[in-house]
Amino acid sequence: MKIHEYQAKEILKKYGIPIQDGIAIDDINQAEATIDQVATDYNTNQFVIKAQIHAGGRGKGGGVKFSSSKEKALENAKNILGMTLITHQTTDEGQLVRKIMVAEALDIEKEFYVALTLDRSTGQNVFMISTEGGVDIEEVAEKTPEKIKRIHINPGQGILPFQARQCAYALGLEGDLFKQGVKLFMKLYKCFVDIDAEIVEINPLVITEQGQLIALDAKFNFDGNALYRHKDIVEMRDENEEDPTEVEAAKFNLNYIKLDGNVGCMVNGAGLAMGTMDIIKLKGGEPANFLDVGGGANVETVKNGFRIILSDKNVKAVLINIFGGIVRCDRVANGIIQAVSELDLKVPIVVRLAGTNADIAKELLEKSDVSLIAAETLEEAAEKVVAEVK
Ligand code: ADP
Ligand code: MG
Repeated sequence: MKIHEYQAKEILKKYGIPIQDGIAIDDINQAEATIDQVATDYNTNQFVIKAQIHAGGRGKGGGVKFSSSKEKALENAKNILGMTLITHQTTDEGQLVRKIMVAEALDIEKEFYVALTLDRSTGQNVFMISTEGGVDIEEVAEKTPEKIKRIHINPGQGILPFQARQCAYALGLEGDLFKQGVKLFMKLYKCFVDIDAEIVEINPLVITEQGQLIALDAKFNFDGNALYRHKDIVEMRDENEEDPTEVEAAKFNLNYIKLDGNVGCMVNGAGLAMGTMDIIKLKGGEPANFLDVGGGANVETVKNGFRIILSDKNVKAVLINIFGGIVRCDRVANGIIQAVSELDLKVPIVVRLAGTNADIAKELLEKSDVSLIAAETLEEAAEKVVAEVK
């Protein structure tokens, strides 16, 4: 799960990390008063108006605007709130800006990149740190990856003071800034572990002309499996920023991820779902989605699965691939027959059931008057469904 910048900053603030604060609003009628508020709070007449969407790259996409007066700030607020922002991290259609943040503009001396995430290959947490932070970090990662330093932290031990010093050293900090940096890295690590983040990214972390180290932007990704113990973070969820079908699927306990192809897939088990997608591609087709209906594939799950798959207008055929282990194939077959006859489906459906009671299931499907294309093996099923879409 992702959250907005202004929410990420609230979390960092709680952990004592200096942030570039501001006020988030979702109604343009609040803009003038908010700009006045920021002007008084920070004793400033220079502002930055920042689109709040989950995708990054807002600066380059025109969603972060420096404003040298209250009037300019209001004008930028009007332009950004309600705009459709396209960045390299959004879809081609872009993302509607429903919230903006009004912030004080800072005088920046230097922009750094700091991130902390799990490195699965070493089983450790890793700080990724670069002196070349800011809006071009992707280019740095691609062209001069040696400029991004990695400092691994053993999760059992936690961060040790010398490692925080290594991080500050990697940024070339000296004197008081070095001390600020060490504190920041210690706190950031604690924050990351406490709240079960998958990644925290501060880009840029800046040195201001006043000699302060401040988080100017912030991003978190959370481990969905740990959200049950962070109710306050779950409350930050903004479903407007998520794919609507994925939100819908989650309500039915279906693991659904939309993809770009035209072969809908309904499978039980994540591993089998991946295998099914692979073989569809091998046979020259393109999967329209990943869908794991879970262990108990009954009439309701099959129906909900169809609804979700078919809400994607690109889907030209569906492949159902269910392995009957605990769930028996004859029950799944009945579920499919009932769902297909109730939902009046217009696309061809290829069914492959294997495992417990597969033979009874086959008979049921053959006897039923719904039109389904039966397949014995996974290979045959993939070939048949790809033939249907071609
Ligand atoms: P994104 O990463 O989505 O592009 P950022 O918040 O990182 O958005 O902003 C992009 C750039 O805009 C920053 O790298 C910084 O140069 C500038 N910027 C953002 N906020 C401020 C601010 N409050 N004062 C001065 N410059 C800012
Ligand atoms: Mg940024």
